[in-house]
Amino acid sequence: MSWAFETPDGSRFTKPRFRQMLIAFKQFLFGLRWHPINAAPLSASTLISVFRQTKRFVLHLLKYSNPVLRFRDVLPHHCEDYIGDLMRSSFNVGYKYHCLNALEKLFVYRHVMQDAMIIDPLNGETSGKVLGWDISSLLEAQTEVIPDETLGLLVRASIDYIDRFACYLLDVSEAVEAVRQPGRRLDANSSGCLRLHSPSSYGLSGTKLEQGVASLQELNKELCYLQTACFVLIAFSTGMRVSEILSLKEDCCEIQAEPGQADLIWLHSRVFKMQGVPEGRRAKWIGGPVSARTVTVLERLTRSTRRRTKVRSLWVPIAALVFKPRDAGALKGDTIRYRLDVFVTMLGLKDSSGRPFHLHPHMFRRTFARHVARHDTTNLLALKEHFKHVSLSMTDLYVGSDVELWQLMVAEEENLLFESFEKALRTERMAGPGGSRLKKTIDAAIAEGRLPKEFRGEAGQYLRKRMIRDLVESGQRIYPCAASNYCWFRPEFALCTQEDYPLLKRCNPGACTNSIITLEHKPHWEKILSDCEDLMELKPKAEPYQRALRDIHAVSCKILRGLS
Ligand code: SF4
Repeated sequence: MSWAFETPDGSRFTKPRFRQMLIAFKQFLFGLRWHPINAAPLSASTLISVFRQTKRFVLHLLKYSNPVLRFRDVLPHHCEDYIGDLMRSSFNVGYKYHCLNALEKLFVYRHVMQDAMIIDPLNGETSGKVLGWDISSLLEAQTEVIPDETLGLLVRASIDYIDRFACYLLDVSEAVEAVRQPGRRLDANSSGCLRLHSPSSYGLSGTKLEQGVASLQELNKELCYLQTACFVLIAFSTGMRVSEILSLKEDCCEIQAEPGQADLIWLHSRVFKMQGVPEGRRAKWIGGPVSARTVTVLERLTRSTRRRTKVRSLWVPIAALVFKPRDAGALKGDTIRYRLDVFVTMLGLKDSSGRPFHLHPHMFRRTFARHVARHDTTNLLALKEHFKHVSLSMTDLYVGSDVELWQLMVAEEENLLFESFEKALRTERMAGPGGSRLKKTIDAAIAEGRLPKEFRGEAGQYLRKRMIRDLVESGQRIYPCAASNYCWFRPEFALCTQEDYPLLKRCNPGACTNSIITLEHKPHWEKILSDCEDLMELKPKAEPYQRALRDIHAVSCKILRGLS
């Protein structure tokens, strides 16, 4: 936190005329961290955010022609002006909420400040109420999901760094480090080491590193990208918060082998939120093969700095960037946010309005929950198995050192359920035994006037929502079965069951009365048909094989006819 920030008259906030406000501001933050009122102590990174949000209010007070130099002199119109400006600004709703929340806290902590506000800046309302938001919709707005197309590019690029580029970059980096004089900067002589390793022997032909790294500066840049790629993959494949990821230390990865079962991979770290102690508590998260590989790369990437500084964190600055060994500790959340911005710019990821995509570390958490809940339908084929592994492990074993993450996943499952019902009810073209039956039922209800004509359109949305709520409350469930169909599960008609659930991997979509096939499944069936025709062209000799191909061909043709 820099207290000597510039004020509207061009002077610094540390000048004697601001002394009372400065001391009160520090007492406020001290209270939040060490003597919280009816709340858990704030972590260091959150404290920095509150500092910035409170600074915004302080700068507002100082910009009047008669600046307000003490909190006790704040009047209602100062707060109204501030809130009005904030509400009219183009900041996102989450940021506005946090600014108002800092104001609310400033009043709550008035008894620990020697100069405190006398008036209640929010007039007895909560920050959420002033914004017109309830907390659940606020959380929804704060934690956006990374869109699939952006996520796909981001994750594929990160996997490339870990699986394809890491070996080469780390070998080059270690060669450079080997000739570095202790305590000296790298110099031109070290550049010779860049050519010791040939990119082609690492299979990098046709990649961005085909020509290798041309300079030490470029090596540093690529190593930073590698470290950022590690962050992306751990955040996305575990759902951990940024503070939890930045607390990972060497040997944090535990592989638990059970005979006859897939290995379980755990990442050990510390959880801070809601723990009531600033140093947090130990906790572990289910990882997967991707996170295990990433931790291995990260351990090697930071080994040199860790040895020199005797810091065990996996997020120490990488060796090539360190001039002298220093007890710098782990990177901070702000550095990671900055690195993510640079990474996104390097990949050229844009949002819908063509601006660089704004990637906040917290977005990975919600996106993780979404992909675990939808592992069967995820477009990220490279990580499909990973999420299946995490999903099964979570269901069977996860006992909740991170209850909020569990709740996020349950909420995502509910969303998925609603979405699947919505798609099944509104689509006009359906195939599969269940789809044909459902289409007939809805068509008949519309013809007889039991459902309005616009039931399947935008205007019928409200009615559909109500119907889906009733269906869910009465225990009805619909499951996406990979890319082939939906299963509106009714145990009495199921061709596959496992207690009260369908056994999705044994699904028989062409024959089961629970199977609903919609237009979104058409590409899958077109591919089945074309693959089948290709195999028939080969004229296989074995009669059972020929019969199987004929059956598959007939089923896919029937389904595609139903969808056309
Ligand atoms: S075969 Fe099983 S999974 Fe497939 S639709 Fe029928 S009950 Fe559902």
